[in-house]
Amino acid sequence: MQSLADIKALLAAHGLAPKHRLGQNFLHDPRKYALLMAAADIRPDDQVLEVGPGTGALTEHLLQAQARVLAVEIDADLEPILRQRLAGFGDRFHLIIADILAGKHQIDARVLAAVTAGGRPFKLIANLPYNVASPLLVNLAVDHPLMTRAVVMVQKEVADRLAAGPGGKDYGPLGILVQALCTVQVVGKLPPGCFWPPPQVDSAVVRLVRRDRPLTANPPALAALVHRLFHQRRKQIGTILGRSTPLPPGILPTARPETLTLEQLVQLSETLSAYNHTP
Ligand code: SAM
Repeated sequence: MQSLADIKALLAAHGLAPKHRLGQNFLHDPRKYALLMAAADIRPDDQVLEVGPGTGALTEHLLQAQARVLAVEIDADLEPILRQRLAGFGDRFHLIIADILAGKHQIDARVLAAVTAGGRPFKLIANLPYNVASPLLVNLAVDHPLMTRAVVMVQKEVADRLAAGPGGKDYGPLGILVQALCTVQVVGKLPPGCFWPPPQVDSAVVRLVRRDRPLTANPPALAALVHRLFHQRRKQIGTILGRSTPLPPGILPTARPETLTLEQLVQLSETLSAYNHTP
């Protein structure tokens, strides 16, 4: 367990201060670690991907629960702290110093190779830096079925979008794509005071659990459709897709994208895929 005093002392001993541009807001509330670990449901030898270990506070909880942790940290200044703190866990802890995102929608190839080695499932457990949360979660949910569960701390605004249902301003591609493949639950809220330094906004812990049966068999087609529709979310479906485009029963051309349920959007993407492939 790292207290706030421990985290401050670890950074100071290495001449470091939190870097705002890297989203370095360190969690120091023991009750929130308990909440996160309960949702993570770690079993011995579980493979965990942790993005942004910082000084290793969450990493220690995961390793003590007997997980094997692959941690990916962008800030090379933190490497000596992590190696010293976690040396006792031997080869259960593996650190890669890298940006988790190799491109806007791509995970670093070295990280992917390491975490999917042997075809074993893995969990993403992390206090995510604010700028990687959405692309990382969509990428893992859509392209990497070996990720079976994610328990992540994110900005409350991102949590709201991940869990949103039809009709509101938060409903859009992020939540639709992730919900088509995983169940999504917001398991707790975290006010700024849980972190040092405190961020400007509230945060939340979100749990994603991969569905045994995804709602779509063709995630790329659903992704292409929702990006097209929600780019013009105030327009009518018929206007966006063209009046001659066939729509499944129950979807009117006058409907607006944000009123369609997840099931209707999947149905629409399947109808359009079949239509586009009709010779
Ligand atoms: N795990 C620590 C905790 O819970 O207190 C720190 C979490 S802090 C919110 C985010 C961490 O992600 C920082 O250590 C930061 O350096 C790291 N980070 C930021 N951008 C990153 C990126 N693109 N790839 C990997 N790590 C990143």
